[in-house]
Amino acid sequence: MQTQQITLNSRPEGMPTTDNFSLDNALLPPLKQGEFLVKNLWMSVDPYMRGRMIDRKSYVKPFVLGEVLEGGAIGEIIESNHNDFPVGAKVSSMNGWRTHYITDGSNHTVLPETPLCESHFLGVLGMPGMTAWTGLNRIAELKAGETLFVSAASGAVGSVVCQLGLLMGAKVVASVGSDEKADALRAMGIEQVINYKTTDSLSAALLAAAPDGIDVYFENVGGEHLFAALNNMNDHGRIAVCGMISQYNDTAPTPGPSNLANIVMKKLKIEGFIVSEHWQHYGEFSQQMGNWLANGQIKAEQTVYEGIEQAPDAFIGLFEGKNRGKMVVKLA
Ligand code: NDP
Repeated sequence: MQTQQITLNSRPEGMPTTDNFSLDNALLPPLKQGEFLVKNLWMSVDPYMRGRMIDRKSYVKPFVLGEVLEGGAIGEIIESNHNDFPVGAKVSSMNGWRTHYITDGSNHTVLPETPLCESHFLGVLGMPGMTAWTGLNRIAELKAGETLFVSAASGAVGSVVCQLGLLMGAKVVASVGSDEKADALRAMGIEQVINYKTTDSLSAALLAAAPDGIDVYFENVGGEHLFAALNNMNDHGRIAVCGMISQYNDTAPTPGPSNLANIVMKKLKIEGFIVSEHWQHYGEFSQQMGNWLANGQIKAEQTVYEGIEQAPDAFIGLFEGKNRGKMVVKLA
């Protein structure tokens, strides 16, 4: 059996290019007892992978040059010598960036039956959805009646944050990078949406959208967005720092916002988090999210690139705003 797989050729400097990746074929060995063969159906591309392309110490180890990349994937078992993993079962794993692989089942989960497309286990029912839920409930502790500001608001995490914010009774203000994304959020009931690419001053636009101030900022972007949020936060506001995608391709240190004194004057609480540290709550999250999806209270959106050869473009597209909802690659 042949597999197609993508390795990291070179570490990107600035914005990644397709030259940083290479697509190879490899031959898989015969199955041993206790192993099974998976054909990947979907793989995830995520902004955190950019950090793993840098050779530095972080919360997750860097990718190794010349080795197959890793990431979330959903596959189907097509041959099995393992009693717990029968042929036909769908499994989630971190063995993305390849079409087929053999495993002993470590770190594999058999997916439950669902009427939804199984790719949503990489998005709204998976790591990004869990990130949105964790940031709002456990970090920012959003309450009904509060005003929530969300950046990268139409992406995998942001679109769930916006919808959960509405469900929790908050007034939601969203920031996105195109009018098309803004219209899609308005269609979901988010009344105040800012296109940050067409505003002269994000701070002024935020003040106009939320004249009574921001109680919770769900930070996905950093830079100018953090500056604008700090200017508009209310006293005792909370900032859940989830990510700072505007800085992931920077080649020199980015200066911090010049208005950090707001943290003291407004008595703000700012807390970063990594979703994997909260995974013991996944059961509670997935039960709630499953119900919201079934009732139509949360809508799952995704942008699909087709074919493993498109995976580098899908990944690069995250930094060019090419996705609405979760960016996934369909492999079969
Ligand atoms: P998205 O689906 O939101 O995709 C990225 C989006 O970010 C793009 O579509 C684009 O939308 C926006 N963007 C890209 N570059 C910039 C920029 N320079 N300035 C402003 N916006 C930009 O990704 P995710 O939902 O997966 O991730 C969102 C954030 O959450 C990231 O910072 C990520 O690192 C973080 N994250 C953190 C986790 C944690 O455990 N802490 C877990 C998962 C994600 P637009 O068109 O609107 O610009």
